[in-house]
Amino acid sequence: MAKRVDEIDTKDKKVILRAVLNVPVKNGAITDESRIDAFLPTVKHLLEQNARVVIVGFMGRPQGERLPEMSVRIVAEALSAKLGKHVEFVEDFTQESDAARVKAGQNGEIFMLENIRFYPEEESKDEGVRQEFAKKLAEFGEVYVNDAFPDYRPQASTFELAKIVPTKAIGFNFAEEIAALDKLMSSPERPFVAVLGGAKLSEKIDILNTLGEKADKIIIGGAMAYTLLQKQGHKVGSSLVEADKLGVAGEILQKYGEKLVLPIDHLGAASFSESEMPQEINGVDIPDGMWGLDIGPLTIESYLKELDEAKTILWNGPMGVFEWQNYAEGTRAVGGKVADQAAFTVVGGGDTISAVNEFELEYGVDHICTGGGAMLEYIAKGTLDTLKALDN
Ligand code: AMP
Repeated sequence: MAKRVDEIDTKDKKVILRAVLNVPVKNGAITDESRIDAFLPTVKHLLEQNARVVIVGFMGRPQGERLPEMSVRIVAEALSAKLGKHVEFVEDFTQESDAARVKAGQNGEIFMLENIRFYPEEESKDEGVRQEFAKKLAEFGEVYVNDAFPDYRPQASTFELAKIVPTKAIGFNFAEEIAALDKLMSSPERPFVAVLGGAKLSEKIDILNTLGEKADKIIIGGAMAYTLLQKQGHKVGSSLVEADKLGVAGEILQKYGEKLVLPIDHLGAASFSESEMPQEINGVDIPDGMWGLDIGPLTIESYLKELDEAKTILWNGPMGVFEWQNYAEGTRAVGGKVADQAAFTVVGGGDTISAVNEFELEYGVDHICTGGGAMLEYIAKGTLDTLKALDN
């Protein structure tokens, strides 16, 4: 079991902190600082312990190249403003002079290394390359703390580094994320209703298999519903379908069909375009040439009824193309019900969080998961590789 940062000794220690630096940036400014706020309590705790802190993380997908627009210097500046304390930015820790500067750092000082994905070794497919790279990072600390729940893929700074450094722990945010998911999955108050949506069934197969066992009902919206409907023999018109996933759709329907709740009508259009006139499609079958773009009014009614008794709710994925006003109603109505229901409610996924923000549903959500992919992975597998690497 991984320990939490306040359960290990960090007093006067040299600590490497893996954090989420992947903040949204527009025109050279951070548009949402919530990811920095998420790891702030861990940084503050480490500073209270008089640790020397070296922060490591990435922004965007530079794929091993130094792209100025993906520099994390902007994050170092924002963190510095929040802490009221200088955060020393380290341009290239592989240069002797920069490495020496970090190593000479005193307790209570804080450093941030440049975007770790500027180095191709971070995501190298070659384990040996990742290990060598992690060894260089490991020179900066005797303690490793990972507070990057969303960055669940095993890469040099999230996995190999954790294996090398002798003392390790998760940060406060990481701990909160898994506590909420454990509460959801280990002994949910029933009925436990899951709401799944979004574009692709293929991304939700593992979680469907887990929820099929654990949840009482699984409400399905978004384009992922059409692959299941087509497998059931319904017409889906031009709607988004993953033809290569019809086989696995059949297996899911066979195993968990009784728990799945699928659309019975739709809102659609003659093309996949925001400006096209929306049309009600009164029935499960979608006529030729039509695109299903949202769930219809009868489906909304039936989904709200399914949620009526729910005591535990997991919501991941929009019910339709909610970014377009004409097709936002399904997501707005189901999201509103999720929030209003007196239940333990966990919500995750980038689009779902956008919907929660846009429709102002925060008031009714117990836990907003900062990492959609990590949430799906944790629920499906019951752990994460990055978490296992922190076992003491
Ligand atoms: P995901 O990333 O899998 O959570 O999917 C979210 C995306 O799915 C959003 O951008 C939605 O616009 C899109 N989406 C939801 N419903 C549909 C639909 N019926 N047809 C096409 N795209 C959809």
